Amino acid sequence: MKFYNTLNRKIEEFIPHYENKVGFYTCGPTVYHYAHIGNMRNYIGHDILDKTLRYIGYDVTRVMNITDVGHLKSDSDSGEDKMVTSAKKEHKSVLDIAKFYTDAFFKDFDALNCRRPDIVSPATDNIDMYIEMISKLLEKGYAYKSGGNVYFDVSRLADYYQLTNHKEDEMVVGVRDGVEYDDSKRNQADFALWFTKSKFESQELKWDSPFGVGYPGWHIECSGISIKNLGEYLDIHGGGVDNIFPHHTNEIAQSEAYLGHKWCDYWFHNEHLMDETGKMSKSNGTFLSLSTLIEKGYNPLSFRFMCLNSHYRKQMVFTFDGLDSAQSAYLKLKNKVLSLKDEGELSEGDFDEYKNRFIDYITNDLNTANAITLIYDLLKDDTINGHTKIEIIRSFEKVLSLDLLIKNEESSFAREDHDAIMKLIETRNEAKKKKDYDLADSIRDELLKKGITLIDTREGTTYKEV
Ligand code: AMP
Ligand code: ZN
Repeated sequence: MKFYNTLNRKIEEFIPHYENKVGFYTCGPTVYHYAHIGNMRNYIGHDILDKTLRYIGYDVTRVMNITDVGHLKSDSDSGEDKMVTSAKKEHKSVLDIAKFYTDAFFKDFDALNCRRPDIVSPATDNIDMYIEMISKLLEKGYAYKSGGNVYFDVSRLADYYQLTNHKEDEMVVGVRDGVEYDDSKRNQADFALWFTKSKFESQELKWDSPFGVGYPGWHIECSGISIKNLGEYLDIHGGGVDNIFPHHTNEIAQSEAYLGHKWCDYWFHNEHLMDETGKMSKSNGTFLSLSTLIEKGYNPLSFRFMCLNSHYRKQMVFTFDGLDSAQSAYLKLKNKVLSLKDEGELSEGDFDEYKNRFIDYITNDLNTANAITLIYDLLKDDTINGHTKIEIIRSFEKVLSLDLLIKNEESSFAREDHDAIMKLIETRNEAKKKKDYDLADSIRDELLKKGITLIDTREGTTYKEV
């Protein structure tokens, strides 16, 4: 297995710390708003890595946090807590907001066929661990109290910028986003581990601690949750590329200072999903969520298919034209797979040959686009019987998870899909009543393009899916 390791800036052979066991940590969502499809692209990338490792026989334990406290408006430590701002806006408590958006997040996660991590832990469940770590960092002299808060002193490390390879002078205030002036800090690159003197009286969640009543900084959460659940040596830590600095840089600093040795060998980062205005982001207000795509009649797995056709380390620009083509290609492929006749004996030679080719692609820095092309090659291969083809695709599906062998009625997507189709059927019925046959026909044609045939009966309209 090879993939790009941000820490060493190259594609490397993966060797876990403890033989066959893999500890894998993914930064989870900040649950102050709906996740957008950029966030979901990131989790699809992580899902492929997770499933590839399992596919080739590793015993993976995957952990993900849910950020429900401490992620301030800026990724460094200024601005109000994102959760607090959202709770105020929606007139709800922070924990209600967290629950609502966590549930919404997992609904999208499931609809995209992402395997849920073995352990999902909200940041607010692990306060004792952060207090333990911060106390030790203070004791060892890596942290200091100032202006009511506890900060990490980056000047104590020889190689604070090991992950980014940044030069110290590129990181001064004003040169880069995420580095802001704070007169409580010894060095401007220092970051907060614990806030007591919040600039915002309204901070709702606070805990007692030896450093005063307060709340943890965002970075310590991921280090704490990872070490608590996966131990002192972590194999893979992942996130989006925007997490490299300052979040992951700070995680390395505090974890290695706390543990007294190297912590994580492989850093895995997904490139962003962009729209016409730049990086899709929750904070700039306008973004697309998976439910918007579903409301517009798209199958969530068309979006997964679209993501898998591009490489996780390339920026991907989202357009509806692109999604239309992805959906049409996806449904055509699914149609072909579903029309395979389950006939003949399993040919183990063919099965192994295709499986090996598949493994070559996905273990080569997760080349999912080539893995999909292999399915087209397989479908065209006249020397292989239908049963063997189906079994080969069933095997690939353990990683790709595109429901290629599942008729839609049985898939996890069925309910949302059904609702969206029924809405369109209603609009078509209204149009027919008003004798607007152009609109009625265009709805029927649009659905047909998506693999849905409408059937008008005396009892009403139903539909048939691919
Ligand atoms: P957040 O909920 O903002 O903490 O983000 C959750 C994850 O999504 C993080 O790991 C981010 O790096 C990632 N992310 C944020 N925006 C994008 C984007 N436009 N494309 C891909 N990943 C993103
Ligand atoms: Zn994190």
